[in-house]
Amino acid sequence: MYKTEIDLPAFMPDATYGAIKTLSFNDLNNIGIHGVVTNTLHIEQTIGSENIKKIGGIHKFFNWNKFIVTDSGGWQVFSLINAKEDTKHIVTEVGCSFLNTKNGKHCFLSPETSIMIQHNLQPNAMIVLDFPIHGNATYSERKQSVKITTQWAKRSLKKFKEIYSNNNNRPILGAVIQGGNDFELRTISATELLELDLQMYNFGGTPMYFGETWKTTKEYRIFHEMLVYVSSLIPNDKIKYAMGVGQPIDIAFCIDYGWDLFDTVLPTRNARHGYLYTSLGTTDETRIYKPQNLLKNILSEDELSYSIMHIKTQRYIHDSEPVDANCKCECCTTVSRSYLRHLLKIREPSGYRLATIHNLTFYENYVRKIRTKLRQNKKINFHNHLKLK
Ligand SMILES: [Zn+2]
Repeated sequence: MYKTEIDLPAFMPDATYGAIKTLSFNDLNNIGIHGVVTNTLHIEQTIGSENIKKIGGIHKFFNWNKFIVTDSGGWQVFSLINAKEDTKHIVTEVGCSFLNTKNGKHCFLSPETSIMIQHNLQPNAMIVLDFPIHGNATYSERKQSVKITTQWAKRSLKKFKEIYSNNNNRPILGAVIQGGNDFELRTISATELLELDLQMYNFGGTPMYFGETWKTTKEYRIFHEMLVYVSSLIPNDKIKYAMGVGQPIDIAFCIDYGWDLFDTVLPTRNARHGYLYTSLGTTDETRIYKPQNLLKNILSEDELSYSIMHIKTQRYIHDSEPVDANCKCECCTTVSRSYLRHLLKIREPSGYRLATIHNLTFYENYVRKIRTKLRQNKKINFHNHLKLK
């Protein structure tokens, strides 16, 4: 395994198919990104994990020696099952049976096969297969999700221990705490999974409701309540990974309450749609975050708040300013708002690339600012500098 370290709290973009759309890993280095999440199932169904094993693992394949997390594939199977309401996709206690939508072939993913695929990839951290549910699931569905998630975590750990008998070469293993919006079920899930004494514990259920955005402020409030509660259940010597979170203000909220690892498609996807994160007061939309716990008194509301620019609107057609005068990224130092708007309007890949570089730079700088302040104020006294062999 590559010698890798990552400073926590950290944000990782999603390299779903083994790539950040339109960017190279050299671009990621220039931005300062030091970790990515890649998708087990998508890699398996394209190049295949056995081929990556033959190449020498995913770091060698990417030619990138930084932190790489592989997910279990559970969320993708769940999305598939919920997108296609037919009986060809079935989840039982044994595992997930489903059809590959690209070639129509039957596939089977079990806790053991997920660990094996991830082992072939040789990441720094892997995640055990879990049983996700959506926010509107019934109580019995949520209970079943917790039960199966625990069973699968136990089977995954058994397989993991068989493979990694030598402690020195083990990647980090994480389990996903389920339970939906139910405090009692979240407690049961956390208690059962903590008995396995893994290094990493993840928040399952983002988004807890279907859709790209929250339907109501009540749902958003429940999501935040669950993040606070689940963080409180995980001891501070474990890595706390809030999967799929989220907007920068959500990341700030999570760090405020002890979470320290994040991934999301939002900065890259939003960049391609022309939504750019910028310094507070720049334009269009404003997002305010008022620090309330760990971050209180060490960062101001202004330092954690920002604007979102809708670059494709007409108002930028003659605008010769950079996207954000405070940003030193390749986009902001080389092109105007007007030209970037044009590139995005004509769907030019170089425009997608520049916008993506800008948004990832914003995310990286935002999280780095929080991390630096936490460290200066000695608020981080646990696993803040993760070193792996
Ligand atoms: Zn920029």
